[in-house]
Amino acid sequence: MQTILDTLDLAGEQPGAFVGQWLAGRGPSLACYSPIDGQAIGTIRSADREDYEAVVHRACDGFQEWRRWPAPRRGEVVRRIGLALREHKSDLGAVVSLEVGKIRAEGEGEVQEMIDIADLAVGQARMLYGLTMHSERPGHRMYEQWHPLGPVGVITAFNFPVAPWSWNAMIAMAAGDAVIWKPSAKAALCAVAVMKIIEPVLKAEGVPDGVLSLVVGRRDPVGEALLQDSRIPLVSATGSVAMGRHVARSVASRLGRTILELGGNNAIIVTPHADLELAVKAIVFGAVGTAGQRCTTTRRIIVHESLMAPLKAALIKAYRQVPIGNPLESGILMGPLIDRDAVAGMQAALEAIKTQGGEILFGGEVLNGGIYDAGTYVRPCLCEVRPEMPIVSEETFAPILYLMAYRDLEEAVAIQNRVPQGLSSAIFTNDLRESEYFLSHQGSDCGIANVNIGTSGAEIGGAFGGEKDTGGGREAGSDVWKAYMRRQTCTTNWSEAMPLAQGIHFDIG
Ligand code: NAD
Repeated sequence: MQTILDTLDLAGEQPGAFVGQWLAGRGPSLACYSPIDGQAIGTIRSADREDYEAVVHRACDGFQEWRRWPAPRRGEVVRRIGLALREHKSDLGAVVSLEVGKIRAEGEGEVQEMIDIADLAVGQARMLYGLTMHSERPGHRMYEQWHPLGPVGVITAFNFPVAPWSWNAMIAMAAGDAVIWKPSAKAALCAVAVMKIIEPVLKAEGVPDGVLSLVVGRRDPVGEALLQDSRIPLVSATGSVAMGRHVARSVASRLGRTILELGGNNAIIVTPHADLELAVKAIVFGAVGTAGQRCTTTRRIIVHESLMAPLKAALIKAYRQVPIGNPLESGILMGPLIDRDAVAGMQAALEAIKTQGGEILFGGEVLNGGIYDAGTYVRPCLCEVRPEMPIVSEETFAPILYLMAYRDLEEAVAIQNRVPQGLSSAIFTNDLRESEYFLSHQGSDCGIANVNIGTSGAEIGGAFGGEKDTGGGREAGSDVWKAYMRRQTCTTNWSEAMPLAQGIHFDIG
């Protein structure tokens, strides 16, 4: 573990604020722990209110200068950031595994997403297109253009400690914005590592200080200050629904904008026309991958009643074979939960399932002995439940998978859509009518709807995000860049007259 930290120069106390150069941080020291064995892996000197002020001040100055750089030149900086991330993919992936307990392949996969979005943003920097319209007035030209917006606040969750920052930051940089990153305290060492990788690029390219900043700190003085800061026109926040409601209220009260990426409660519908073998593979990855701690984790299976028995048997068989252990070791497919609180949350949910009439079919135990003594390892759990049980509508951030039976597809879609969250969804079927119904306006109400693919593992090319309690925000590809810019409609009169819109006459004399 020490080697992983040494490679990215993370040994010893780390400064908690970065603005192109490091600010020591005058707040309390934040201890970082690995869920793998519960041991401390580092400390970060967090930011206090003065540090926060210094960061935002630099971000505002940095923005003023950065927005003057031509967008393709900004894209070139993003390209070089992508190259630096390629070079350190394995090192950074290992830090992600160490700090949040993902298996190595998933830690590196997260860094690959950073590289992919950097590549996308390079091209995007040359495609910040505006529309032209035909004016109703003769001798007039009308069009829309997009300008950089300002410093953007990015709040990230523990479970994806690096990729969501890059979805925001790479696109925002190309758009001409400065970015202020407030990471989760449970994964702040990963954020420090990212800045250490990027710092030489910013220096070599002469990027103004404050274009990319980091501020590690508590809710008070840092988190709340960011929400209430009218110098920050956009806050992009990833996390729980409760956090999102608070962010939405706070930022809206100053008429700021938000991008909210909140909790999911994702379902897969398995119909009688499904390829069951394919479905089982997708379900196991979706439910057990990242130890059930993805926003897109598969939490509910809605299976046709005729398939309940064989699917149950296949899943129990697969669950028995999941290797659980140190995520840094090869062959392990499931690591620990983030901390003991998460384990306690899972145990409380299992009690609720039983009290509400559900049946635990497999797993759920807290493991012990050897590395398991960290108290963060659990066996993934399969339960049979009824859709109306209140616990089924909640997102328990742990590997609990609910199985529910349905009779007809309309009922299956209704079960899927009855929860408050609306992030990711999938159907397994080889029947065109079923898949088209699911994808139609009568079908899934989620931001992501897949056919014969599981609910997790989205590609960065599409817009990522969800509806309802998931917050409605979108990040990554497609036309998401527009959220990071301000739109301006421009009309030029090149005639010698002054016609008014809507045919209004306003002639004096
Ligand atoms: P969390 O809500 O506890 O924390 C998320 C972030 O919000 C952290 O950085 C935290 O410090 C910050 N925060 C909390 N209160 C704040 C406040 N008052 N002011 C400013 N910042 C504040 O979530 P978590 O436990 O870190 O992550 C798990 C949750 O995130 C799950 O619900 C998961 O579904 C969700 N998530 C969603 C997506 C998505 O894209 N939709 C992606 C990853 C995680």
